[in-house]
Amino acid sequence: MSRVLLLSDIHANLPALEAVIDDADKRCQFDEVWVLGDSVGYGAQPNEVVERLRTLPGLAIVKGNHEAAALGEISIDSFNPSAAAAAAWTVDALSSDVRDFLSKLPLVTSSSGVTLCHGTPRNPIWEYLFTSQTADLNLDHFDTAGCVHGHTHIPSVFGRDAAGNWHINQARDADAFQLEFTRWFVNPGSVGQPRDGDARASYAFLSIPEDWNTPRIQFRRVEYDVAAAQDLILASDLPSTLAYRLSIGR
Ligand code: ZN
Repeated sequence: MSRVLLLSDIHANLPALEAVIDDADKRCQFDEVWVLGDSVGYGAQPNEVVERLRTLPGLAIVKGNHEAAALGEISIDSFNPSAAAAAAWTVDALSSDVRDFLSKLPLVTSSSGVTLCHGTPRNPIWEYLFTSQTADLNLDHFDTAGCVHGHTHIPSVFGRDAAGNWHINQARDADAFQLEFTRWFVNPGSVGQPRDGDARASYAFLSIPEDWNTPRIQFRRVEYDVAAAQDLILASDLPSTLAYRLSIGR
């Protein structure tokens, strides 16, 4: 059995990441940690977050649009104003060691027979998976049954049954699903900037039995010190709206 801690969209929010790791340590002995992009951007502690991730066991990590922006690999013209300002701030904030680590990350990878990406397998930087149409369009772009991803900041499961019908669930705290689908996508939600109206940090556990009968996903929400993350943003040159939104989960 592989027990995987799934983290995504941490967005340089170290207080949220530490609360999630504490909670996960108490609940499950995980042997792998998969991080699905946007570890930096928006928050005030990009270097600290990346250094902390590098201490975790069995780490597999992909690059998101915010890493690509902070590395100058993509244009930030299509970012909204606060995202663009945060990306510019992050460019200056990254240490050379962290920049070097991020620059070597893949956009898509696989581990234990599951595909990992940020947006979608066919467009890991830009595409948001919100609909069954987008899910269908991605099926030919990865060759495993399952894909774990982030980018929308909404915890969710998209499962396609043998008849080709999609079963879509937005997940709430403590929801669990057996992944008895021919193809599936799982998004653990955002650790550092939730956008579903619940300000608590979001993450998930993926359990994969040796014989794959049947993978299971369990979602979790955890309180963290929102004020600490906000104070760090307000003390920096980051837009203050990025602090405000943390308290409302939008
Ligand atoms: Zn993000």
